[in-house]
Amino acid sequence: MIRIALATMMLVSYCPPANAQSKSTDYTADYQQTALEIYRHLISIRSAAGHGNVPEVANYLADRFRDGGFDDADIHILPQMLSSGEETASLVVRYEGNDSSGREPILLIAHMDVVDALPKEWERDPFTLVEKDGYFFGRGTLDDKFGITTLTTTFLRLKAAGFVPNRDLILGFTGDEESGMETTRSLAYEYRELTDAEYVLNADGGGGFLDHDGNAIAFMIQAAEKTFATFELTIRNQGGHSSLPRPDNAIYELATVLKNIEAYTFPTQTNDITLGYFDKSSSVTPAPFGDAMKRFAANPEDEEALAILRKSPLQNSVTRTTCIATMLSAGHAENALPQSATATVNCRIFPGVEVGEVRAKLFEVAGNDALEIEVGGNSVASPASPINEEITAAVTEAVHKQHPGIPIIPFMAPYGTDGKVMRQAGMPTYGVMGLFIKEDDEFSHGLNERVQVDAFYGALEYWHDMLTDLAGS
Ligand SMILES: [Zn+2]
Repeated sequence: MIRIALATMMLVSYCPPANAQSKSTDYTADYQQTALEIYRHLISIRSAAGHGNVPEVANYLADRFRDGGFDDADIHILPQMLSSGEETASLVVRYEGNDSSGREPILLIAHMDVVDALPKEWERDPFTLVEKDGYFFGRGTLDDKFGITTLTTTFLRLKAAGFVPNRDLILGFTGDEESGMETTRSLAYEYRELTDAEYVLNADGGGGFLDHDGNAIAFMIQAAEKTFATFELTIRNQGGHSSLPRPDNAIYELATVLKNIEAYTFPTQTNDITLGYFDKSSSVTPAPFGDAMKRFAANPEDEEALAILRKSPLQNSVTRTTCIATMLSAGHAENALPQSATATVNCRIFPGVEVGEVRAKLFEVAGNDALEIEVGGNSVASPASPINEEITAAVTEAVHKQHPGIPIIPFMAPYGTDGKVMRQAGMPTYGVMGLFIKEDDEFSHGLNERVQVDAFYGALEYWHDMLTDLAGS
C-alpha cells in the first residue's frame, strides 16, 4: 500500500533552527553495520507475491534474533498457506520485559513482502541494495524492508546493550500485506495470544517529510485508515437483436445510475484525528489551503473553507466518504442488445461508517430499483484509533531530537495498511515509521524505489529513542 504519498503535496517548508541538520556521515557503529547487513540481505530476497520467498525472509530474521540472544521460545515462525495456494509466513518475536510497569505489551508491526519489481524495467537491479548519491536503491528500501530492518536492528541493539523493557515488546512481521493481509488477520485473531497488546505501532505508515532542500517539514502519526470497499453494480436485461432496439437498455440504465452517483456527495464528517490534522497542518500549508484548513478545524460548518478544501483531492478525501467508478463491462456482441452492464465502484469510507450503509446509499442515489449491488471481499469497516498522548509525546521527543520544533500531525490515511486489520481486531494502531522522505522520493511500489542514507540511520536512532521512552524504566 502506498503509505505517505500525497500527504506532502501542499506542505511548505518549516524553518528549522540553524543547527538542526547535524549530520554525521560515517555510520560505523556496530548496530549501524548490522542494520546495513540486514537491509542488504532482505533486499536481495524477492519476497513478492507468487515467488514463495517470504518464509526465507522469516527464517533469516529468526536466525538473526537467535544470534542476538533472543530465546528460541520467544521466536515464532508461523507458516501459512494463502488462499492463492502460495506458502508464506509471518514472524513474531517477543522481547521479554520485567513487567515493572504492570502494562500490556506494545506490538510493533511491519511487512516482509514487497510489490514485485521487474529487473529489466529498473535502472539498477531491484534486488541488489545499491548505495549511490546519498541514497539506498532497491525494491523494499522504503516499503517495507525499511520498517523490518529498523525494528529488527533496534531489538538487537537494545538486547546487546542489556536493556530490559518494563513491559513486553512484540514484533509482528506479516507476509502478505501487499496482496491480501491474510497473515495480518492470522496475527490479529488466530495467534492473538502471541500478539495481544495495549496498542500497535506500525512501521509501515505515518512518518516525516522533507522539503526539496532536505529540511524536515512535519511528521505524521497515522491513527486511522479509511475503509476500502468495492461494489459491483449490475443492470440486467433480456437483451435481443440490435436491429430491434427496446426502450429499456442495460447500458443506458447503468450510465444513468453512474451519473446519479457522480452527482452525489457524501456528507462532511470529522473526528479528532482529521480536526487535529487540519489544525496542525495549516501552519505548514500555503494559501489558500492553509487558511481554509485552520478555519475548517475551528468550525467544520464553515462552507466557504470546505469549498476550498474540496478543490484538493487529498483534502477532500479527509473530509468524507468518497466513491468513484473505476471499471466498466457490458454487452457481449456488437449486434446484440446488452444482457448485462456492470460497473465497479470503489469507495473509501470514513471510519465509523459501515459498509452496508454506503451500499444502501449508493442504491438510493442510483435511482433504479432493478440495480443489483454486490460487495467485494475484504470490505470490513475499520475504526479510528483515539489520539494517544503517551505515543504522541514519545514521537515528539524522538523526532525533535533530530528535527527540532517541527509539527507532529495526526493523520487519517485514505489508503490501507496492516494497521486497519489490527484496528478491526480491537487494538488501537498508530503508523509512526521513523522515515523522513522527500515527496519526489516516494517510489514505493514503483520504479527505482529509494531512501536517503541519512534517513535510514536516523530511523535507527528514532526507534531506539521511542522504545526506551515507551518501555524504559
Ligand atoms: Zn507497505
